[in-house]
Amino acid sequence: MNYADHIRTIEDFPEPGILFYDIAPLLGNGAIFANAIHDMAEPLRGRVNQVVGLDARGFVFGAAMALELGVGLTMVRKAGKLPGETIQLDYALEYGTNTIELQTDTLGSKDKVVLVDDVIATGGTAVASVELVRRTGATIVEFCSAIDLPSLGGSELIKATDVPVRSLVSF
Ligand code: AMP
Repeated sequence: MNYADHIRTIEDFPEPGILFYDIAPLLGNGAIFANAIHDMAEPLRGRVNQVVGLDARGFVFGAAMALELGVGLTMVRKAGKLPGETIQLDYALEYGTNTIELQTDTLGSKDKVVLVDDVIATGGTAVASVELVRRTGATIVEFCSAIDLPSLGGSELIKATDVPVRSLVSF
């Protein structure tokens, strides 16, 4: 399946100098989307008991993968979106900082999880999510994304945390 044919690039979005990889055509084609979810999920069958989706487009792929695998979905969210008791992690962006959150009653040391996002770019969010999920005691089996942009270095940073990385397509 040539997924690259169903991903379009848009220049200077959301700001000048960024080449944005848009997954809308892939999501909009039922057969291609179903194949993508199958290919993302199948190598994980029987190896994870929970999918962890990263805010926000990671929820789209993560929720579908959880259904395909017959397991639950846990959300890593931007700060202020989750009710109840949470653990938080701050991480540095190019300019400023960001905070991600996880509800404390979601994951624990018995869990084996896959982290899911749409695109691995600089890997800032991904590496912070690895750190946050590890604080729960859960084991991270893999980081899985639809798209990897290896020239931006994110997948190498994730691998440096001893988490295997797998993507449908690299640009
Ligand atoms: P990063 O922390 O740089 O790996 O990026 C975090 C998230 O921002 C990714 O998971 C994507 O959802 C989004 N993103 C970053 N760069 C791009 C890009 N060039 N095209 C599409 N989405 C992007």
